[in-house]
Amino acid sequence: MITRSAMPSEARARAGETSADAARRRARALVAEMSLDEKLVFLASYFPLVNPRRDEFGMTPAAGYIPGLERLGLPALKLTDAGLGVANPRECRPGDTATALPSALSTAATFDLNLAGEGGRMIGAEARAKTFNILLAGGLNLTRDPWAGRNFEYFGEDPLLSGRLAGESVAGVQSNRIASTLKHLALNCQETGRMVLDARIDPVALRESDLLAFEIALEIGEPASVMTAYNRVNGIYAAEHDELINGVLKGDWGFDGWVMSDWGAVHSTEDSALAGLDQESGFELDGILNGGVYFTDRLKAAVVEGRVPTSRLDDMVERIVGAMIRVGAVDDPAPAASQPIQTEAGGRVAQRVAEAGCVLLRNEKALLPLSPTGRILVVGGDADVGVLSGGGSSQVRSVGGAPIEVALTSGDSAWFCRRTFHASSPLRALQECAPDAEIAFLRGDDVAATVKAATDADTVVIFATQWHTEATDAETLALPDGQDDLIAAIAAANARTVVVLETGGPVLMPWLDAVAAVLAAWYPGQKGGEAIARILFGAVNPSGRLPITFPATDGQAPRPLPAGLEQLRERDARIAAGEKHPPIAPFAVDYHEGANVGYRWYEVSGQTPLFPFGFGLSYTAFRHADLEVDSCAHAVSVGVENVGDRAGVETVQVYVRARDSQGLATWRLAGFVRVALEPGEARTVRLELEPRTYSVWDSKGRAWRLAEARYPVAIGRSVTDHVLTGALEVASFRHTE
Ligand code: BGC
Repeated sequence: MITRSAMPSEARARAGETSADAARRRARALVAEMSLDEKLVFLASYFPLVNPRRDEFGMTPAAGYIPGLERLGLPALKLTDAGLGVANPRECRPGDTATALPSALSTAATFDLNLAGEGGRMIGAEARAKTFNILLAGGLNLTRDPWAGRNFEYFGEDPLLSGRLAGESVAGVQSNRIASTLKHLALNCQETGRMVLDARIDPVALRESDLLAFEIALEIGEPASVMTAYNRVNGIYAAEHDELINGVLKGDWGFDGWVMSDWGAVHSTEDSALAGLDQESGFELDGILNGGVYFTDRLKAAVVEGRVPTSRLDDMVERIVGAMIRVGAVDDPAPAASQPIQTEAGGRVAQRVAEAGCVLLRNEKALLPLSPTGRILVVGGDADVGVLSGGGSSQVRSVGGAPIEVALTSGDSAWFCRRTFHASSPLRALQECAPDAEIAFLRGDDVAATVKAATDADTVVIFATQWHTEATDAETLALPDGQDDLIAAIAAANARTVVVLETGGPVLMPWLDAVAAVLAAWYPGQKGGEAIARILFGAVNPSGRLPITFPATDGQAPRPLPAGLEQLRERDARIAAGEKHPPIAPFAVDYHEGANVGYRWYEVSGQTPLFPFGFGLSYTAFRHADLEVDSCAHAVSVGVENVGDRAGVETVQVYVRARDSQGLATWRLAGFVRVALEPGEARTVRLELEPRTYSVWDSKGRAWRLAEARYPVAIGRSVTDHVLTGALEVASFRHTE
């Protein structure tokens, strides 16, 4: 046996090192071989989509590109969006299709860590096959406002659920030896004025909510990169926020990867570089939007003049190269030419996520599952051709193409996205599931004719859609285009009416009491039609749970409308008057709810939402028993039994009630697990709780602190429906992980 002291000193130093240390050591040696100009190449990525010379430089049309350094064996960096699949914005790569997962909100509704990982593995494999080695996935901003345009790209309103699922998804992406991001650090929680807004929040509350989600996701996913947000946070642009990047991310969390900006989000050279930003993304956009490019010639001058130390410059490059080595993208580079993707296997993953992510919100008199015979009228939602996709940089040109594609004529998303559908027709899928039923379709534009047909049908299934996109927020949670009136009219004519929602997030349901059933299908992705049909006919028992509260009115949310609408309208008026690219005047968003995001807001403001976080019905029923709380281990065990007559999945949700820094007590999700049970089957499950969800952040000690107290514990069917209660006895301790 060789003892450590007998080893050569270099080997001794390596003995305890992690793969991240080893990668960093290799990166350091490589960077030492680089000239200043070679180093600088890594620090600003091209934006091939807007670069007129992209073909000349051999850039694949996508979100980003940095040429490789062949003499040191470093491959080009090829960046593509995003978390729902390999995007192909405006079909810039003609005919290049990929598997579209359902929206991240749908993945969140599965509460399923394995499925989140599987989705990540699948989209990462496709990115790699398409020659990309950086996937801009891991969108993780907490939903603070139900109307926000990108909610569908994120994992909902709870830090534990979001953090765990985003982390698993990122780990899945990176298992393909490519890099993933987590994004957008921090508080990119609304789209209106996202490039100019100042997100104001108590720093402790930020730490206990949005940053807690990042902290958890970072530990699980170990992303190669983190992308900063467009907005300011408490007065400072996220891309030059020393406390957020150097202090929290690289300091407290020990993040070893690199920090990239969002596209068009850099406003300075020295301030950004010294605050910890390592890479300016899509630098052409900063040239267009922000008065210059900051990490090319200006950074060179700052280094030459000593305003940015060479050690910092080297650190930037070492972080990029080191993280690419760590994930395996250097030693096993992505193929040089595009390979075929596994469309069948990808479709199966997308379908499993969609099936597990649909949430059954109402099912009066067990109308669902539907009988596979009789006359069924399907109405609206373009259900004869496909399912809706959310818009923006995450938009995937899915296998089968876009059967509906509408270019936008106005709005901040018009230049980079279109309203599209995936070619997965619910109508066709319903017909395939029930060949003996008589299934007809009406678009619903002729209300009188539709109501007449509804009267004659045994059952009506209405598809209602609400389109959300990056760069725009909705100004109401009401379904658009008269769909509420149509649903109400049909429900009045036929009591056996089922509403299937394809939405970016929560919507209002003024007709709720009049309809028999409601299924929230979110944006259900590539195989959404099949997933919906299989749930409606009972081939799949719905098991999704709400990852986000559904308000009863617009007014219940902390901000009923996006902040900055006034500034947006002023800007639009200047455009209408013929001005070219007038800016939106800066404004602040006051996140007064602090850490009391989502369901915690409803509790502290004493409001009852339409549907609470965690809610979701099944075609079977479950009974819980024998809650035992292990206070030493911060764990609970509980029995769960399927007392119905169908196999089903129960999501055991453990809530712990704790006080925040202001002394306000709220329930928080502290653990969850999905349990699949056959009829009559019972199991006891043990769940480790996450103590940070019921701790407070001690900003002076820079540590989580758990006060000595008796913390109420509940097993909930949702955050408000508690079926078993207990308590966790805690002796004071510091949780420093
Ligand atoms: C989005 C990012 C995206 C980037 C590149 C930005 O507009 O905010 O999430 O990754 O574009 O397409």
